[in-house]
Amino acid sequence: MSQQKQKSQIIDDEDPVTPWIKGSFQAARGVRDILPNEQKFWQFARQAAEEIARIFGFRRIDVPTFENAALFDRSIGSQTDIIAKELYLISGKDEIETTDKLLALRPEFTAGIARAYIENGLQFWPQPIKLFTIGSVFRHEKPQKGRYREHFQIDFEILGDDSAKADAWIILSCWELLTVLGIKNIEIQINSLGNAESQEKYRKKLKSYYKPLLTKLCSTCLERYEKNILRILDCKEVSCIKHKENAPTTIDNLNDASKKHFMAVLNFLDSFNVAYSLNPYIVRGLDYYTHTAFEILVSNAKEDKDQLKGAHHQLAIGGGGRYDDLMKQIGGNATCGVGVALGLDRLVEIMKKQKVQVKHQSHTEIFVSGIGARALTRAKNLVLDLLRAGFATEFAPDKPSFRSQLKTANKLEANYTIIIGEREAHDNTCIIRDMKSGIQEDVSCDELVSILNERLR
Ligand code: AMP
Repeated sequence: MSQQKQKSQIIDDEDPVTPWIKGSFQAARGVRDILPNEQKFWQFARQAAEEIARIFGFRRIDVPTFENAALFDRSIGSQTDIIAKELYLISGKDEIETTDKLLALRPEFTAGIARAYIENGLQFWPQPIKLFTIGSVFRHEKPQKGRYREHFQIDFEILGDDSAKADAWIILSCWELLTVLGIKNIEIQINSLGNAESQEKYRKKLKSYYKPLLTKLCSTCLERYEKNILRILDCKEVSCIKHKENAPTTIDNLNDASKKHFMAVLNFLDSFNVAYSLNPYIVRGLDYYTHTAFEILVSNAKEDKDQLKGAHHQLAIGGGGRYDDLMKQIGGNATCGVGVALGLDRLVEIMKKQKVQVKHQSHTEIFVSGIGARALTRAKNLVLDLLRAGFATEFAPDKPSFRSQLKTANKLEANYTIIIGEREAHDNTCIIRDMKSGIQEDVSCDELVSILNERLR
């Protein structure tokens, strides 16, 4: 036995799912492949998101994977973790790389969509504009289960609508999407940060509250105290969580306009039967939020406790809120907006964990078998007809016998095999074999497409 042969046998002996990686490349840290056998969940979730987008009036937009880094810096905020620690900077080879010209992979969608809105004059289209997108975003985070450096988000945004209905519409869209996906144990936690005036007052109060506690905070929170005090409320360190409990809340510091907006949002949610709870400490990680801020969580099974790091056994699957000052911040006319991002990777993870039944779509619907020269010619024509009629069709002309062809059809999990022998080729007929029951029937080739349409569509 040659050395080469020995080696290939060793590979064949291994679990086919485990790639042979010795001496070959591996995916970069924090990213992963989504293999064909997982795709049914992803496809189901993407299709559901597209359908929800359609019925709620969101139109598809695609924005570039990378933008000028300054856009993210200006909108998300230079002191946020996403910008300060997690932004992937890339070098454009033909640019002189001054700080202004650096490019960055998108760490989220809202900034790019807001830029596209301004740049393409969408403010002159009839308002409001509801936009939707799906794609990957990049964050240089510490990789761990459920946290990737490239992950996928579903994003809904409503621009040019300052009404409370728009906030509720965004949350309702998510609620409906999660219902369609069959995800259980959802919790929507909501808060209001108020408008700029309320936020300024609140920041001052928070500063005076934390001033005497500075020695008891973690080192990151000391920095946050100086640069972005709201983020102290997001800290997961036990010592900082403890002091959060007595901290002033945003809700208690809303001015009248902010209070009115928030009450109206809650009112809409009540009318839409969306269950929510108030969480006065939700501030979200990004600088651009005003008024409504919310997170969508799913309660997890006990075995997940370890990886949740004290997050009350809940996993964040989405979050969003209102950002009325963002457009001005990045050079546009004052335009209000509200949006949400749902983590597609986590939706899929939870669908699997909660054993959501996703219809298994057979990859191959029809297998065509033709034995004999004349039958094979006829089979080739039929394959083309069936492909053009929209059926996922396969055939295996290199397999010499009917038996081996049928074996291939079984392996491909075809729903039906169309059998053509010499007699059928001569009569312009074929045999339809139901691969589950094994029942066979003779039909005319002219009727085949309509018969298959009836059975498969
Ligand atoms: P964020 O913009 O950070 O609120 O993210 C929105 C949603 O994306 C979160 O609720 C998560 O479901 C998901 N998400 C955020 N970061 C990651 C990550 N590193 N890996 C996987 N999913 C993520």
